[in-house]
Amino acid sequence: MYIQVALPVPLRQLFSYLPAADQPLPQPGCRVEVPFGRQSMVGVVVTISDHSDLPDNKLKPIDRGLDPAPVLDDTLWQLSRLAARYYCSPIGMVLNQLLPVKLRQGESAQPQPIKLWQLTEAGRRADLDGLKRAFQQQRLLAYLQTQTQIADGDVSKLEFSRQALKALADKGLIEAGERALSFDTDWHQQVTLGETPQVLNREQAVAVAAISGDLDHFGAYLLEGVTGSGKTEVYLHLMEPILRAGKTVLVLVPEIGLTPQTIERFQRRFPVPVGVLHSAMNDNERLQVWQQAQAGALGIVLGTRSALFTAMPKLGMIIIDEEHDASFKQQEGFRYHGRDLAVMRAQLQQVPIILGSATPSMESLYNVASGKYKRLQLTARAGVAQHVKQRIVDLRLQNLDAGLSRQLLEKMEQHLEAGNQVMLFLNRRGFAPALLCHECGHLHGCSRCDAFYTVHQGSGMVQCHHCGSQKRLPHQCHECGSTQLFTQGVGTEQLEQALVQRYPQYPVVRIDRDTTSRKGSLNQLLEKIRRGEARILIGTQMLAKGHHFPDVTLVGLLDVDGALFSADFRASERLAQLYIQVAGRAGRASKPGEVILQTHQPDHPLLHQLTTQGYGPFADAALKERMDAMLPPAGQMAIIRAEATYANQAQQFLNDANHCFDALPIQRVGPMPAPMERKAGKFRYHTLLLANDRKHLQQALEHALPRIEQLPSAKRCRWHLERDPQDLL
Ligand code: ADP
Ligand code: ZN
Ligand code: ZN
Repeated sequence: MYIQVALPVPLRQLFSYLPAADQPLPQPGCRVEVPFGRQSMVGVVVTISDHSDLPDNKLKPIDRGLDPAPVLDDTLWQLSRLAARYYCSPIGMVLNQLLPVKLRQGESAQPQPIKLWQLTEAGRRADLDGLKRAFQQQRLLAYLQTQTQIADGDVSKLEFSRQALKALADKGLIEAGERALSFDTDWHQQVTLGETPQVLNREQAVAVAAISGDLDHFGAYLLEGVTGSGKTEVYLHLMEPILRAGKTVLVLVPEIGLTPQTIERFQRRFPVPVGVLHSAMNDNERLQVWQQAQAGALGIVLGTRSALFTAMPKLGMIIIDEEHDASFKQQEGFRYHGRDLAVMRAQLQQVPIILGSATPSMESLYNVASGKYKRLQLTARAGVAQHVKQRIVDLRLQNLDAGLSRQLLEKMEQHLEAGNQVMLFLNRRGFAPALLCHECGHLHGCSRCDAFYTVHQGSGMVQCHHCGSQKRLPHQCHECGSTQLFTQGVGTEQLEQALVQRYPQYPVVRIDRDTTSRKGSLNQLLEKIRRGEARILIGTQMLAKGHHFPDVTLVGLLDVDGALFSADFRASERLAQLYIQVAGRAGRASKPGEVILQTHQPDHPLLHQLTTQGYGPFADAALKERMDAMLPPAGQMAIIRAEATYANQAQQFLNDANHCFDALPIQRVGPMPAPMERKAGKFRYHTLLLANDRKHLQQALEHALPRIEQLPSAKRCRWHLERDPQDLL
């Protein structure tokens, strides 16, 4: 017998091993530890076969089996295979992505007891005053005297000191202990509602009826409705019968949408165990959620992209909120699209999947047009929220104050004086996007990228936002030595300064990567906004999505013109989605809202269509354009990207790669330089591969990739292939 193992290496093959002499034969789906080169690796058994391409004396036995039973259920197995095939990724890399990090590292898949610290008898009787001089110990002991124990994993989370812990243990006041993890797998025997649901409006009722008529089969539904139209309420209504039937629900939300409010909303309606998965969790916490879900101890799993791979044996429904969001696309390693794999999973498990959005992706609209998805629309805002007034402000020949036009400033004053909040959106962090020499015209650029340095005044640095390199803010021009250096353009930092000066009476909060880099700082700022302590909110993309601020009545977009001229065919779709998202921040509650879009292109048809007709007509037109040009989603696309120290290495490789597609029904566009040709010291080129149908592209890739991998020129650059690229920059 030979064991065929998938290993997390970028090679398109399985690896044969012999069984270990004294151990039972591991089943497919179980992890094994195997020797690989000089190291040992954790892999997953794919098949057991009775032949091997290599002679026995070349094969090594596995070191040990790690699982008594498969760690991946049938669905996840099949999903991995489909995904590996579709994304042309080695199965080992896919499986590696699927499993929680701890399992990739070989840790037990069975729940382990939780290590904890508890009071001893002496500790219970100890007098806190005795520790007056050891504040940390006193604080920890005080905590334990009320809580009796603390999980080891919570020690640093609750900001207790390890030293204090050890000191208390040495004094015999506390001792190490264990608690078995108890999983509540009986939650489904009594599912009650934690609150009374809203009475649905007509459109909501239609949507709920359309989907709940067929809960036992696969069906994909696009639930289209502007922010505040009641999509979440529809999800909650649909989940009720699923949970009552003892089945579970997987809810995927964008990176930025997983706020405490979102979690609380689901938890408030359904007091069932909810597992939350997001990128800020540590590997142990993730493993625990995964184990609970696999054991059936969670009614709802709520998470970002990779939560999609949670084992859920009794899955009854998948919901993807903000399905158009770019964060569902994994941009490195195994580059998959979470939405597309979720649809595949729903199909495999024969459950309905609901894709919700105010601004559906072209992909989903195309699937509606071709009859694969059913479209349900919520056109009215639920509850009391009213429609917003929208207006374009022509910036041409205007004098601007930190990027703000006279009209916008006037509006801001009106709204602020009325006691409301104003939100300004500027997708450019830092003080200014460039530093210009007034004497010779030199713009200070990054030496490793085709990009200018961004000025960060607060930190006194210039920074390249593409490679991260930074240095002290220069006082003299690098070219001519002049000290007349001026900043060009406006970033959020400058905008904040200007507003603080102009309106000292209205507190300003800025939300961007720079103000939120410390853990917890984003939530603090959001809290401040919610409490009404901030009146003017400034932010990049981060502020645009997902947050509900009922007192914001005016939203200003300062500068979005860049997207109108992008080299990326998706740029206009993204701008439209962003615009609608941002506009949706205005007037959520009972107050009417206003949106002002500043532009130097007031006559641009896209901006007109968006502000006068909304997303729907824009999307129809954009989809038609894509179909005419056979661009995705109508046509099929993959990209081969290469980067190298010298431009000709990347070009040579891509030229050679192009030949591997000769005589195949594939259109090749390239090699061409990436829009930013040099980044972090490397030259970057790419080739687009286009086909009219999926099968052609699939077959071509399967034919060509093994050949491309063998090309001598492939060794002289870093390259990868990506299916359905979302980003051509
Ligand atoms: P979305 O998810 O589309 O942004 P929500 O479901 O969050 O919309 O609904 C927006 C607001 O309207 C929420 O406060 C919600 O409680 C309320 N709401 C939703 N549906 C109804 C309804 N049928 N009747 C009254 N209020 C509703
Ligand atoms: Zn100069
Ligand atoms: Zn750089």
